[in-house]
Amino acid sequence: MINQADINQSTETLNVLKQTQMVIKEALQKLGYGEDMFELLKEPVRMLTVRIPVRMDDGSTRVFTGYRAQHNDAVGPTKGGIRFHPDVTEDEVKALAIWMTLKCGIAQLPYGGAKGGIICDPREMSFRELERLSRGYVHAISQIVGPNKDIPAPDVYTNSQIMAWMMDEYSRIREFDSPGFITGKPLVLGGSLGRDRSTARGVTIAIQEAAKVAGIDLKGARVVVQGFGNAGGYLAKFMHDAGAVVIGVSDAYGGLYDPKGLDIDYLLDRRDSFGTVTKLYKNTITNRELLELDCDILVPAAVENQITRENAANIKAKIIVEAANGPTTLEATKILHDRGVLLVPDVLGNAGGVIVSYFEWVQNNQGLYWAEEEVDNKLREILVRSFRTVYETAQSRRIDMRLAAYMVGVRRTAEACKLRGWL
Ligand code: GLU
Repeated sequence: MINQADINQSTETLNVLKQTQMVIKEALQKLGYGEDMFELLKEPVRMLTVRIPVRMDDGSTRVFTGYRAQHNDAVGPTKGGIRFHPDVTEDEVKALAIWMTLKCGIAQLPYGGAKGGIICDPREMSFRELERLSRGYVHAISQIVGPNKDIPAPDVYTNSQIMAWMMDEYSRIREFDSPGFITGKPLVLGGSLGRDRSTARGVTIAIQEAAKVAGIDLKGARVVVQGFGNAGGYLAKFMHDAGAVVIGVSDAYGGLYDPKGLDIDYLLDRRDSFGTVTKLYKNTITNRELLELDCDILVPAAVENQITRENAANIKAKIIVEAANGPTTLEATKILHDRGVLLVPDVLGNAGGVIVSYFEWVQNNQGLYWAEEEVDNKLREILVRSFRTVYETAQSRRIDMRLAAYMVGVRRTAEACKLRGWL
């Protein structure tokens, strides 16, 4: 007879909320907090589910489901992107909101975490349908968001055009121009220079810092990037420009591999707005094969649960920097750590996006705009400091970088909850 314990042992949980809660629990315990703090922080304080009717181009109406999760606002207003994807789930949005709290904590931004998502496939929707969906979503969540309450931003399959519609819709509802309501906007609507490439810039800085401590020279290092969207596409370019050899890239349909290095500029030129690039080629490899390629640096920049206990032992990279949110499971994290692979977790590795979103919001609030160089320098300063704090925590406590990042990230929120007298 099979008992429940055996089943639990034989199946790895791919539920990102459960995985996150396990690490939050361990981090809080190590910081000396009790069960009550875990009870408060294991779930978002607020979770709104909305149904959004959208008039489609053919005259029919479709009703979409959307979410907005606000994890914790003890430190300040909440912040986090909105993703449009057919696989969005409630638990995923909750986990993504918790990760935003951790990112803001590590980078010391005056925010708590939030996240939004709509179950839809933007690849199959027209421009006008997307506009109506974006406006409908803002209408549905308008009561709980705002420039001093909860500030959205782009995420998977959303972009600056969608931010522009959302900002416009919010401004109409409130009857005054509200650029600080959302970040990741086009430049003429109050966007920040450098925001579009900020996630990839941040990942690049994390890779540089990781390469230093691992004793790897970036010049000539072999890099594999999974995903060719906003993060993966720019990152492949930055790595190429830094003298690394990008030997593999992929999109949702498969991967491209060339041991002598791929022509990144050409590929960037040919990709579509969803980062699709492999459709141009016959000789592709699978995403699984891509992850297991012989390389020095691997950057998962796509979706969750890509490196699991099934393939963690086969990964050849010496450094993994997570540009995606949640690409590596907990079991895989342990396997990689035991094997001596340096894994820079998402909440540190991809924090560049929210850091420059914060700069955008500050610029909107003060009505004064910065040069790109200033944005880049400030981003570098924060990311280098964040990397070192997390790395030193991991070294001194002899723990993996994910747990160290959670400890650094959750500490401020826990402290703020205590100081406010919530616990
Ligand atoms: N969606 C990005 C992230 O997951 C950016 C969020 C933001 O800029 O608020 O970090």
